[in-house]
Amino acid sequence: MFGTRATLFELYGFKIRVDLTWIFLSPLVIWSLAQGYFPSYYLGLADATYWWMGAFGTLGLFGSIVFHELAHSLVARRYGLRIKSITLFIFGGVAQMDEEPPSPKAEWLIAIAGPISSFALSAACYLAFAAGYRIHLPIVPLGVIGYLAFINSLLGGFNLIPAFPLDGGRVLRAALWYWKQDLPRATRWASRIGSLFGLALILSGIFHMITSSFIVGVWWFILGLFLRAAAGTSYYQVIARTKLGGKPIRLFMTPNPATVSSDLPLDVLVEEHFYRSLHEMYPVTEDARLIGCVHSKQVAGIPRDRWTELTVRDILTPCSAENTVAVDADALSALSIMNRTGATRLLVLDGDRLAGVVTLKDLLKLLSLKLDLEGVT
Ligand SMILES: [Zn+2]
Repeated sequence: MFGTRATLFELYGFKIRVDLTWIFLSPLVIWSLAQGYFPSYYLGLADATYWWMGAFGTLGLFGSIVFHELAHSLVARRYGLRIKSITLFIFGGVAQMDEEPPSPKAEWLIAIAGPISSFALSAACYLAFAAGYRIHLPIVPLGVIGYLAFINSLLGGFNLIPAFPLDGGRVLRAALWYWKQDLPRATRWASRIGSLFGLALILSGIFHMITSSFIVGVWWFILGLFLRAAAGTSYYQVIARTKLGGKPIRLFMTPNPATVSSDLPLDVLVEEHFYRSLHEMYPVTEDARLIGCVHSKQVAGIPRDRWTELTVRDILTPCSAENTVAVDADALSALSIMNRTGATRLLVLDGDRLAGVVTLKDLLKLLSLKLDLEGVT
């Protein structure tokens, strides 16, 4: 469920991205609106009219979720948290934070801002609907505004369910955190409730599919799956933060990695290095100074007959904040760079000298070892 994302646009400095689930599920939303919701409230309209209402309603749902997530993000920014992007899933969004809120109070306010904004938007739509009804607004915009009034109150209400990582679950976690002063434990409880709630949704979805409304059942089922996946992922992120946070990257890196020199021809690079060691990436040095790295994928894009004329220098990726991390940096900053750029290996720098390489695989392996040996807290 947390697969490919596409960036759509930027708003107040936040990148708004959609998860692939939107592309798969938005036809289902349009269909359930055009064939289920609108015909049951507005009788006797043409089929095409229902489809238009379904399409605009889905767009409105999209805007409503962006509005909800913006409320979270603006409050989070006030507390100095960096929000790199807002990703929209079909049922809501996730404002991606690199770090946890600084205090239970901050978490509480960030969490509650979303539902409050949705309820406010719902109230505004109710007023607009009432006014539109009096001035005989055409049925398509009137119906869509009415739907938005309904769906925003549903968004606010659904998100208040105390199941982490929903907003209600965050509110609950903030309370547990304040009470016990233990963030990992508060997260464990809140995400367990979230996961149980997801299971309950899945089961009642199946029950609905068999006994009453198939389409309502399908939605509950999908919501349940989403919630369980999200509860697991968010819990894992918090554990990674507590287990790896505050520890320097030098503890987790592989020191003295093999390097290649920048004047090496590509055919030699492939035969003598990629094929021999099976590493996918090599740091590139020039007079013992690190100048970048070369990845097997970069060579793959070049025709074979040019491998003899080109050297590593011609294709290397220069060092940047995207592919390097300082030896004394927090291990979490490495995870956060990998998360942001999609890189699975980073060069570890000590000044301009290469100190080692750190890989995502090693970090995750270490994390699961630590969990095995030390438990959660
Ligand atoms: Zn929310």
